Amino acid sequence: MATQSELNNETELGGAEVADFRRRVAEFLEANCSRAGDRSGTVGGEDPEGVATAKAFQRAMVDTGLAGLTFPTEFGGAGLTSRHQELFNREVQGWYLPNMPLSISHGMCLPMLNQFGTPEQKARFMPDNISGTSIWCQMFSEPGAGSDVAGLSTRATRDGDEWIIEGQKVWTSGAHYCDYGILVARTDSSMPKHKGLTMFIVDMRQEGVEVRPLRQISGGSGFNEVFFTEARVPADWQLGDLGQGWNLAVSMLMFERVSIGAGGGSGFNADRSPGLISAAQALGHGDDPVLRQGLADLWIREQIKGYIGQRIRAAVAAGRVPGPEGSLAKLNGSLLARRVRDVSMAIAGSAAQAWDAEDAEGSRWATGCLSTAGISIAGGTDEVQRNIIGERVLGLPKEPDPYKGVAWESIPRS
Ligand SMILES: Cc1cc2nc3c(=O)[nH]c(=O)nc-3n(C[C@H](O)[C@H](O)[C@H](O)COP(=O)(O)OP(=O)(O)OC[C@H]3O[C@@H](n4cnc5c(N)ncnc54)[C@H](O)[C@@H]3O)c2cc1C
Repeated sequence: MATQSELNNETELGGAEVADFRRRVAEFLEANCSRAGDRSGTVGGEDPEGVATAKAFQRAMVDTGLAGLTFPTEFGGAGLTSRHQELFNREVQGWYLPNMPLSISHGMCLPMLNQFGTPEQKARFMPDNISGTSIWCQMFSEPGAGSDVAGLSTRATRDGDEWIIEGQKVWTSGAHYCDYGILVARTDSSMPKHKGLTMFIVDMRQEGVEVRPLRQISGGSGFNEVFFTEARVPADWQLGDLGQGWNLAVSMLMFERVSIGAGGGSGFNADRSPGLISAAQALGHGDDPVLRQGLADLWIREQIKGYIGQRIRAAVAAGRVPGPEGSLAKLNGSLLARRVRDVSMAIAGSAAQAWDAEDAEGSRWATGCLSTAGISIAGGTDEVQRNIIGERVLGLPKEPDPYKGVAWESIPRS
């Protein structure tokens, strides 16, 4: 958690500076975004049109000096403080930002590059990542390694100045439109499972990488299977030290949990209450007392989410990687998503079941409802977050591990 002095340092902005920044954001939103209505937090955008829209939107962010707000200017960021990020997040409430396809790129891969990249990696990759010129994905999960991601079996073998990657990932969000990915692979099977892992930057456009989209219950194809057959990674695209992949993976998961659960202004993270309040009014439910109570409850919980996020972002801005508070944020975000689903369904009524064929966005209520379950799974399930909070926050005993300290190659696998 951020200390009080970190929070104080981060909040010292003059009144004129605050007003000027808010005006700049407000003008940008007027010119480039639509009012959220009931669309804030809309999932999807994984089709080519959605990706092109997200890229154009991000270029506009760059032109206005709002892209990569808290990242250094020398690597393409705006070089501002987490207080600016906080102001930005508040200002975008009630607006729909069409940047969902960039969520992982910016919420997880960018902070990893910034925190762990070499100066050469930062100079090479961060500017294009921030501008949306290149889009990035995260490749951790495998068919046999989800919650127990340290048990993964994709291999990286050194070959001269390169690594050769063999294996399979699954549930890779956005891999079908991404240029680069951050991958964790096993570099030493003779070590215990958490120790023989290394993290790499992978060129997703090369021949040895095959991406196969998966069809979801919501009708979309947001995530993929990714197969590596002699895929190649230059040795200097290794992220962090050899054998340190688990530590980096934990950091990336914490960035993911913060990104999903701590309030970041758009995507899964968007505050939904402003849009839902307008939708309830537009559909004639503005006076329904039960619905009003549900919306007020949601609004209050979203403010709390914002405060959790403020603390975590201040700690990150002070140079620290988020710790178990990321799990608190993620679990809270997932519980909040279920409340959003229930209130949304109450507002939409029959429109959630059947809609006018002419209405291009008619399916949004149903899609939003069906996508909610995924939020409790992505980035580590609710059960896994509860385990982490139990062990690392409450100090409860660790889960027993019969294979602790045993070489990965000696652990039985199905
Ligand atoms: C929308 C979405 C997007 C995703 N995007 C990505 C992505 O971009 N990149 C990526 O690498 N992965 C991604 N994932 C995968 C996600 O990280 C995994 O699905 C998740 O970690 C769970 O792994 P699993 O599906 O293998 O389930 P399992 O690990 O097999 O878990 C099955 C069930 O057992 C429970 N369980 C497992 N272990 C324990 C335990 N120790 N204690 C208590 N209960 C336990 C789980 O909570 C769950 O209910 C995504 C998933 C979703 C839903």
